[in-house]
Amino acid sequence: MVTIEKFMVNPLGENSFVLSDETGQCIFIDPGFYYEEEHEEVKRYISDHQLKPVKIINTHCHFDHIMGVEFARKTYNIPFYAHPEDAFWIERAESQGEMFSIKMSAVQAADQFLNEGDVVKFGNTSMEVIHVPGHSPGHVVFYCKKQDFLMAGDVLFYGSIGRTDLPGGDYNTLISKIKQKLFKLPDNTKVYSGHGPETTLGFEKKSNPFLT
Ligand SMILES: [Zn+2]
Ligand SMILES: [Zn+2]
Repeated sequence: MVTIEKFMVNPLGENSFVLSDETGQCIFIDPGFYYEEEHEEVKRYISDHQLKPVKIINTHCHFDHIMGVEFARKTYNIPFYAHPEDAFWIERAESQGEMFSIKMSAVQAADQFLNEGDVVKFGNTSMEVIHVPGHSPGHVVFYCKKQDFLMAGDVLFYGSIGRTDLPGGDYNTLISKIKQKLFKLPDNTKVYSGHGPETTLGFEKKSNPFLT
């Protein structure tokens, strides 16, 4: 049984997740922890639940999703995984931050790559990697079939979709990949997004104004 803990963090209100299962192993998804109290909060959560972090996996590498990568990587001495086509976003993190008047330090390149069809494992849990470009070229989502949830990053939000006006974004690609790759998954799949509340694929299929 996977437990999903959401932390809404940093000046952009990004959702960072810690997923754990009955083995006590856990992973970070999109660690955007920025302020000192956000670091303290997640460290406390991990020690209170006696969890053992094993890796960091990112849906994509926009600066608000990687602000906490070095903190998590160094605190727990764990590898950082991302799709190769978002490597340029890691290199640009500091300058992207400046555009939003947010000071952040450099993030080192990914230790390992994530690609379409890979299976991410921790403890007894497996999630499939699905490449869904359009918001960013190297955007992936993580689908857990056994427990029917999707970690969707900035591809799909409650009633909305990710912006496509940043470098490497493409509106038509995003819409067609969501329809092709995500809408074939079960309707009751719970969706955890990079910003805002949870939703389900069935609800978005029926009512999302960008996708109906
Ligand atoms: Zn993004
Ligand atoms: Zn975001």
